[in-house]
Amino acid sequence: MNDSQGYSQDQMTPRFIGRAVLVTGSSRGIGAGIARRLASEGARVAITYASNPDAAQKIVTSLPGSGHISLHLQVGDETSVEKAFSKVLEEFGRLDFLVNNAGITKDQLLLRMKADDFDRVTEANLRGVFLCTRAAAKIMLKARFGSIVNITSVVGQTGNPGQSNYAASKGGVEAFTKSVALELASRQVRANCVAPGFIVTEMTDVLSDQQRRSILDRIPLKALGDVSDVAAAVSFLLSSDAKYVTGHTLSVNGGLYM
Ligand code: NAP
Repeated sequence: MNDSQGYSQDQMTPRFIGRAVLVTGSSRGIGAGIARRLASEGARVAITYASNPDAAQKIVTSLPGSGHISLHLQVGDETSVEKAFSKVLEEFGRLDFLVNNAGITKDQLLLRMKADDFDRVTEANLRGVFLCTRAAAKIMLKARFGSIVNITSVVGQTGNPGQSNYAASKGGVEAFTKSVALELASRQVRANCVAPGFIVTEMTDVLSDQQRRSILDRIPLKALGDVSDVAAAVSFLLSSDAKYVTGHTLSVNGGLYM
């Protein structure tokens, strides 16, 4: 099978057999693609949704392998996070990897941005990463093993007009990740970020031809990214191929920012 840029999708090696992973916000989009990639490499995956249990269940049943589960998880809500991580331990008996993927946007120019829109975005994108990372770290530190990948954005690196809330949350996650990487390293728990640029998802499907052309003009590799490009970067950072990589942000952006 080829992706949208003509690269073949190689047969996956089952390097994650016996591993358990929770991917937040995996009922659709990039999270679902990450879950699919990790399942195809042998991991058991906890799919999480905020509002759409049916979509999450569909992803669970379509994943390769077996033993996957779906869970309700509001990442910014402490009680919801504690419940979801307890459930994962109950079902899987372990948690080796966490992918903090759930994220939202509420775009507006600064002077028109409501404080509530700032709070909602930082609650999901930054507080949510903090709560889930803390819950996972409790388990991973005990096991003296684990790997965490946080999905940030090129916007957290460059800024973007109309996205001051989103950019602050994603930039905050990068700084958070470095601190956490330093705290957890002595117990062999790693934490890294993947920062996607423009990725083909429902979000980019609605772009007009003109918007798409102007975006492509700015991307050196002259293509939008595929969900599979992000998933491959996540898989690498979780795997033992990256056992000496922590506190890093891996950009998956076609050269848009370097
Ligand atoms: P998406 O299609 O909008 O999916 C978001 C997922 O997060 C859904 O599963 C949703 O669940 C869940 N979710 C939303 N609010 C949540 C909350 N408060 N708590 C827990 N789960 C919540 O997103 P996406 O485009 O795939 O993006 C995924 C990640 O990549 C985000 O962090 C985003 O910032 C980042 N990113 C995306 C792009 C891009 O081009 N798409 C580029 C750079 C970075 P329900 O559907 O059940 O509500």
